Amino acid sequence: MEVQFVEELEERLIKALQNSAGQSLLQSDLWKSTSSSSREVSRALARMEKKGIVKREPFTGERRKTYRVTLIKKEHKVQISDVVWCACFTCHDLSRCGPGQPISPVNCTKLTMSLRSELMKYKRSEEIKMASSSEKE
Ligand code: SF4
Repeated sequence: MEVQFVEELEERLIKALQNSAGQSLLQSDLWKSTSSSSREVSRALARMEKKGIVKREPFTGERRKTYRVTLIKKEHKVQISDVVWCACFTCHDLSRCGPGQPISPVNCTKLTMSLRSELMKYKRSEEIKMASSSEKE
């Protein structure tokens, strides 16, 4: 199977499970709701189970055996907005920077400053959250 197809199928399976009661569905319902073949869904779920995204338990229905599939966790995808604050993304020295080179993340002032700035923003947002939650009490 093509990598993009596999990723899209996994994403559709996760969405179907997220939208279900208890984030759990029968495997036979999953291939119907994602308009995929039972074989494709079975393979995708086996991979997702190995990655710890879903849990499959044998389930005997009215006519035949299937699996009850439960979403354990949604794979966290890093968004560009999550890391865009890091100085390395706009650094002119990026191609010359690395372990064993004269410029390194270990002693980089620009990286340290951007990390400090992000940490301060995080602390401020946590303080605001705590202040607003104590106001509600
Ligand atoms: S660690 Fe510093 S020098 Fe290296 S790429 Fe990041 S900002 Fe640039």
